[in-house]
Amino acid sequence: MVRDVPGFPEPGVVFKDIAPLLADPGALRLATEGLAAAGPGADRVVGVEARGFILGAPVALHLGAGFVPVRKKGKLPGATLEAAYALEYGEAVLQLQEDALVAGHRVLLVDDVLATGGTVEAAVGLCARAGAEVVGVAVLLELPGLGGRERLERAAPGVPLHVLLP
Ligand code: 5GP
Repeated sequence: MVRDVPGFPEPGVVFKDIAPLLADPGALRLATEGLAAAGPGADRVVGVEARGFILGAPVALHLGAGFVPVRKKGKLPGATLEAAYALEYGEAVLQLQEDALVAGHRVLLVDDVLATGGTVEAAVGLCARAGAEVVGVAVLLELPGLGGRERLERAAPGVPLHVLLP
């Protein structure tokens, strides 16, 4: 239910497309329950735009937690914290509303794919700057050989990474 799309979004890249998994009722439930199992005790799920939103909100419901979005620059109203990050394909800035997380919050960070780790590093950094504790990072897939796991370990030593699909 995860299909390889060669040449997207640019030549030479093989994109992992999770649309079939999201569209299948049973797979969506299994996947989001599996991601939620990575965050017992979390009271906030942070999801990164955009596929982290789709997965993160049901994960939050499974956990009895709230959902907090991390968005690309310019989408969130009010005061924000921001972090520049390097994507597999380019550069961007992520933002978190300043009052969305406070000290004492226990965060499970959810995204679909870990590639170079730039996105997760930026999002974990935003949570930490807000004073929250990141208790885990949960993704559906890890693209091997791009250093994402190592980058997360350097950015947030000891924070467990849970990868649902081998
Ligand atoms: P990273 O920052 O780890 O290099 O890239 C991860 C981010 O880019 C995630 O937010 C993810 O949604 C997106 N991404 C990178 N490669 C892929 C891919 O092959 N498939 C999907 N679905 N997302 C990807």
